[in-house]
Amino acid sequence: MAKDKKTLTTAFGIPVPDDQNSLTAGERGPVLMQDVHLLEKLGHFDRERIPERVVHAKGAGAGGYFEVTADVTKYTKAKFLSEIGKRTEVFVRFSTVGGEKGSPDAARDPRGFAMKFYTEEGNYDLVGNNTPVFFIRDPLKFPDFIHTQKRHPATNCKDPEMFWDFLSLTPESIHQVTILFSDRGTPATFRNMNGYSSHTYKWYNAKGEYFWVQYHFKTDQGIKNLTREEAGKISGQDPDHATRDLFEAIKRGDYPSWTLEMQILTPEQAKDFRWDILDITKVWPHGEVPPIKIGKMVLNRNPVNYFAEVEQAAFSPGNLVPGIAASPDKMLQARLFSYHDTHIHRLGPNYHLLPVNAPKHAPENSYQRDGLMRFDANGADGPNYWPNSFGGPEPDPAAGEPPFELSGPARRSPYTHPNDDFVQAGNLYRKAMNDQDRKNLIGNIVDHLGGAQKRLQLRQTALFFKADPDYGRRVAEGLGLELAEVERLAGMTQEERAKATS
Ligand code: NDP
Repeated sequence: MAKDKKTLTTAFGIPVPDDQNSLTAGERGPVLMQDVHLLEKLGHFDRERIPERVVHAKGAGAGGYFEVTADVTKYTKAKFLSEIGKRTEVFVRFSTVGGEKGSPDAARDPRGFAMKFYTEEGNYDLVGNNTPVFFIRDPLKFPDFIHTQKRHPATNCKDPEMFWDFLSLTPESIHQVTILFSDRGTPATFRNMNGYSSHTYKWYNAKGEYFWVQYHFKTDQGIKNLTREEAGKISGQDPDHATRDLFEAIKRGDYPSWTLEMQILTPEQAKDFRWDILDITKVWPHGEVPPIKIGKMVLNRNPVNYFAEVEQAAFSPGNLVPGIAASPDKMLQARLFSYHDTHIHRLGPNYHLLPVNAPKHAPENSYQRDGLMRFDANGADGPNYWPNSFGGPEPDPAAGEPPFELSGPARRSPYTHPNDDFVQAGNLYRKAMNDQDRKNLIGNIVDHLGGAQKRLQLRQTALFFKADPDYGRRVAEGLGLELAEVERLAGMTQEERAKATS
C-alpha cells in the first residue's frame, strides 16, 4: 500500500480486509452473522437520518465573521460589540420554512436567517427571518399555523384551503401575507435577501440603562427576487438553486455580506410610540425610528461537511450574552423554550457539544452531566453540584440582566388594537411597492387563493380590501368575485365575517 493511503477500518479502528464481498458460507451464500463489518455498516446506515426539523428543514449554511463599524457602547455592554473594528466568528444558516428537506429552494415561503456569534462571553444566537414581521403574535397559534402550511392530513398534499382558511380567520397575518405574496416571498438567492430579528429585543449598557432594539441585516448584494413564473421553473429544474448559489459564490471568493442596521428606542420613546413595540406583526417605520449602521457580516467559509455543520447546527433565541436580553414579546418568550426543546429532541441532550454548536471562544463550565452521547470528559473528576467547596465554577452576578418591573393581572389577553392590523399592510402596498410590485403581488395571490373555495376567497379578499380598497378590488377582479360582496364583508367585524363565510 502507498505510504499516504489510509487503511479502511471499522468504526472502532479495526482494519477491514474486504469491502466488496460479504462473508458467505460457500461462494453463493447465505451470508454469515459473523461478518461484523457488514452488520456494523448496515446498522449505521439504517440510522443515518436524524429527525428532520419540523420547520426550516431545508437549508444552507456558511461561516464567516461579524465586524463592528460604529460605537454602540452607550446602548449595550455586549463584549463582541465593544469596539469599532472588532471581529467575531459567525456561522449562519438560511432556510425555507414549511417544506421538507428535499423541497425546492424557490418555494414561496419566508426564509430563515439564523446566526450564531461565537463570542468571548459564550455563543449568541440571533434566529431571524427575511421578513421584518410574522403571521401571528401569540405562540398558542404556532402549531396550528404551521399545520396549515404543511400537508393535508388526508391527501398529504399542500392545501390552499387550509392555508387560506386559517389566514383569513387570523387577520393579524395580513401584513406578512402581503410580504409573502410579493416577489420578496421568492428571493432569487439567499445572498439577495435581508435578515431581520423581527422580534424586539432589549439591549442594556454597563450603567444598567436599557433600550428596545430591532436588527436589520441589509444585503450588500441588493434585493433580487424571482417572479412566480421564474420560481416555478427553477423549482423543477434545480430545486437546490439557492443552496448551490451560496456554496459556489463562496467557493469562487465572491463573499456575500450584509450591513447591520439597528432601530433603537428608549423606554420613554417606546411608551408613547404609535405602535405596540412588542407586536411582531408590526414594523417600526423608518421615518420614526431611523436605522443606524453598526456592523457588517461577511460569509467567507463553506462548510467542509454539510451534515456536521449545517444539519447539526442548532440555534436558539435563548442564547443571549450579557448586554442583550429578551423582550416580553409573547412569540419570543415561547421561542426561548421551543428551540432548545426541539434540539434536544432532534440531536440529543448534549447537542451543545457538537463542534458547530459548542462555544469556541468561551469555556463551557456547567454542572450538566451525563446523558446520551456525552462525548467530552463530562466534567472529569470535578464536582457535579453547586454550591461546592472543591473549586467548581461559580456564578457571576455581574452577568445578570438588570432587574425590571413586571405587573398586571395574570390572564389570557388578546392584543387590544385590531384595527391597526391593516394599516402597515396598506402602507406597504401604497408606499413601498411600485406598480410592477403591486401587479406581481395581485397575480401571485390570485394564482394561489384561486385554489380555495369561494367563501374563503371572499373572506380573505375582504382583508385585502381593509388593508387598501384598491388592493382588495384588484384581487376580487382577478378571482372574479363580486366587489359589493367583498366590500360588505370588509365592513363587518371579524366574528361577523367568519360567520357569514362559514
Ligand atoms: P419606508 O418607505 O421608510 O420603508 C419601506 C421599506 O419597505 C423599505 O425600506 C424596504 O425595507 C421595504 N420594502 C420595499 N419594497 C418592498 C416590498 N416589495 N416588499 C416588502 N418590503 C418592501 O416606510 P416605512 O418604514 O413606513 O414602512 C412602510 C412599509 O414598508 C411597512 O408598513 C412595511 O410593510 C414595509 N417595511 C418596513 C420596514 C421597516 O422596518 N420600517 C422593513 C421592511 C418592510 P428594507 O429596507 O428593509 O428592504
